[in-house]
Amino acid sequence: MRSKFTLNAVNSLSIAVAMTASLVSAPTFAQQKFVTVGTGGVTGVYYAVGGAICRLVNKDRAKTNLRCSVESTGGSAYNVNTIKAGELDFGMTQSDVQFQGYKGVGSFKEPFADMRSVFSVHPEPFTLLARKESNINSMAEFKGKRLNVGNPGSGTRAAMDELLTALTMKVSDFSLASELKADEHGAALCDNKIDGFFFGVGHPSANIQDPTTACGAKLVPITGPAIDALVKKNSYFAYATIPGGMYANNPQPTKTYGVLATMITSTKVPADTVYTITKAVFENFDEFKKLHPAFANLDPKQMIADGLTAPLHEGAARYYHEKGWLK
Ligand code: GLU
Repeated sequence: MRSKFTLNAVNSLSIAVAMTASLVSAPTFAQQKFVTVGTGGVTGVYYAVGGAICRLVNKDRAKTNLRCSVESTGGSAYNVNTIKAGELDFGMTQSDVQFQGYKGVGSFKEPFADMRSVFSVHPEPFTLLARKESNINSMAEFKGKRLNVGNPGSGTRAAMDELLTALTMKVSDFSLASELKADEHGAALCDNKIDGFFFGVGHPSANIQDPTTACGAKLVPITGPAIDALVKKNSYFAYATIPGGMYANNPQPTKTYGVLATMITSTKVPADTVYTITKAVFENFDEFKKLHPAFANLDPKQMIADGLTAPLHEGAARYYHEKGWLK
């Protein structure tokens, strides 16, 4: 009893100290603006993009009073919905999910007319990985097998649904259609809980490096007439090749198709805030590109045009006009 009492006393004392401290420093905090960037799993590239952006923004926070933080989330569709709800300021999303979210098609019930683009980033080839022992060489060969189709809320899952429709396949064609998060699917594959997984992600990614190294998982091409039709019909899809030798035990190039990663926000976020973030990235562009190998080929001119369905946010457009990139 006695020690409990002592503990309580210490607690209320520290609460009192904390309250005084926060009262004293309240004016400083009031001037600071906080923004959060929604990303994906911590082993993916979105999390690294968010980290890179915030790092550059926070370098200047004494001048700008803007403090940026990153949140790991369920991915593209979750980020769109959460920005729409006003609970996130910025988020990463696949270009196909940006299109669907802005227009209110696919898994989105209504258009998100206030969605705004900031820029696009790295390509995300849809990546199909199979256990070495499974001898699976195509999407069709996953019939009757265990495939991780992606967690609800991920762009991966949205793309999987569109792919299945194009192939006239259904989730019930798999003996198991698991919905593990991206941070869990690699270990599940190596532990023989699934035969493969599907993931829309930039390369190289730690998420693919782990299972290809740890248990020799194989990249499986996603090609054929149904893919040709998807790419032809949808401007947000493009053919992609994962270079041979990028991952252990996969010396062959792997043909597939994919999207672009994009960063979005909403009209509710002030123009000055979006301007500050945009400027931090492009004024430090060489440093930004070095923060992840998937950014190696980024070109600002493409980043402000490709893969963007929602109009540019006025704060981003202001910076692009100043640079002469937008007329
Ligand atoms: N494109 C993925 C998704 O929205 C996330 C990729 C990543 O985390 O890098 O599901």
